Amino acid sequence: MTAEQLLYSYLIVFGLSFSVEALLSFLNLRHVQENAGAIPGVFEHVVSEEEYEKSVAYTITKSRFGIIQHFIGSLFLLAFVLLGWFGVAESWVSGISSPLWRGVSYIVLIGLIFSLIGIPFSLYSTFVIEERFGFNKMTFKLWLVDFVKGMVLSLLLTVPLLYGLLWFMEATGTYWWLYAFFFIAGFQFLLMYLYPVFIAPLFNKFEPLEDGSLKERIYALADKVGFNTAGIFVMDGSKRSGHGNAYFTGFGKNKRIVFFDTLLSSLKENEIVAVLAHEIGHEKLWHIKKMLVISLLSMLLGFWLLSLLMSYEPFYEAFGFLGKSNYAALVIFSFASSPITYFLSPLFSSFSRKHEYEADAFAISSVGENDSLPSALLTLSRENLSNFTPHPWYSFFHYSHPTLKERIDAMNSIPVP
Ligand SMILES: [Zn+2]
Repeated sequence: MTAEQLLYSYLIVFGLSFSVEALLSFLNLRHVQENAGAIPGVFEHVVSEEEYEKSVAYTITKSRFGIIQHFIGSLFLLAFVLLGWFGVAESWVSGISSPLWRGVSYIVLIGLIFSLIGIPFSLYSTFVIEERFGFNKMTFKLWLVDFVKGMVLSLLLTVPLLYGLLWFMEATGTYWWLYAFFFIAGFQFLLMYLYPVFIAPLFNKFEPLEDGSLKERIYALADKVGFNTAGIFVMDGSKRSGHGNAYFTGFGKNKRIVFFDTLLSSLKENEIVAVLAHEIGHEKLWHIKKMLVISLLSMLLGFWLLSLLMSYEPFYEAFGFLGKSNYAALVIFSFASSPITYFLSPLFSSFSRKHEYEADAFAISSVGENDSLPSALLTLSRENLSNFTPHPWYSFFHYSHPTLKERIDAMNSIPVP
């Protein structure tokens, strides 16, 4: 394949993924507008007219914004590919004599340019959209502090990571992809271990959950299902946003349960326990470990594919690079593979939805009733102004969780132990 044919093939796949995404977003937007007039039957008695109208307005605003963001982001990427901007950026770092440092600087530079492009979108989303719907709790100062901290942290982490990766590519010969895989996977495990104790506290405060009936019920549940944890923490999520959540973090001795304070204030005790039982379900049913294995295997596959492609000169010429180099190979691979992996997203989404159904069933059998979890999910959907009527194709393609109606229907059909 010549460089030109390679470029055209990329543009065709890119155009296809762009069009499919635009079509799905458009269908979803129209579906919500068509259903805006009346609350769907299943939610009639549990969602007020005002809440429903607000959720429709929020979904429409966010979908329109998403379409514009997708369009502008794609235009920038196309400009880089078609106007030779990748090569222009290469000439900026060509004075650095060490090839490893030149590579690190180039990738950091490209990463920086793309994060700068993202700034106006982040600002608009936080201070216009989230603000209008009453979710934003951030001041501009906090946004800026977060941004600077995030940048410094990602530099501190990516520079040694990139340096190591480029070193393995350079020094370990044909099997570099295997060495690089173990290096990156090791780095990831280290980060997962350190994240709850050293990284997350840079952005939020974590307080142990207060003693009381909630804590007792949570420990009783953890005991019953045989779940060990290094602690239950409450995070000051309300410092930034009104959206609520709960999650697990870390592993081994650092494994923690984290509740957003916003979640604790909007749910009743039995609902919080049911949400936690669902999260424990993910852990006990090996979902988190399975997902980790899948992501590691895809990384291994990616590195192996890259090792096959990178010796091929037209690959660099096609995307406007000045010549063959390890860092260019990494950059090309990371953006050129994304329209291809886009078409795999329904596969990953459906896999994740299967896990959600399983965790719901686990929660119901652990708490011994099927009222608390559905009512918790309903409250969270109402408070987060979730889309009550997504287009089925859109949710099939993108939703990592089944829709609220699907989940409630599934839970109602489970016999209570
Ligand atoms: Zn889940």
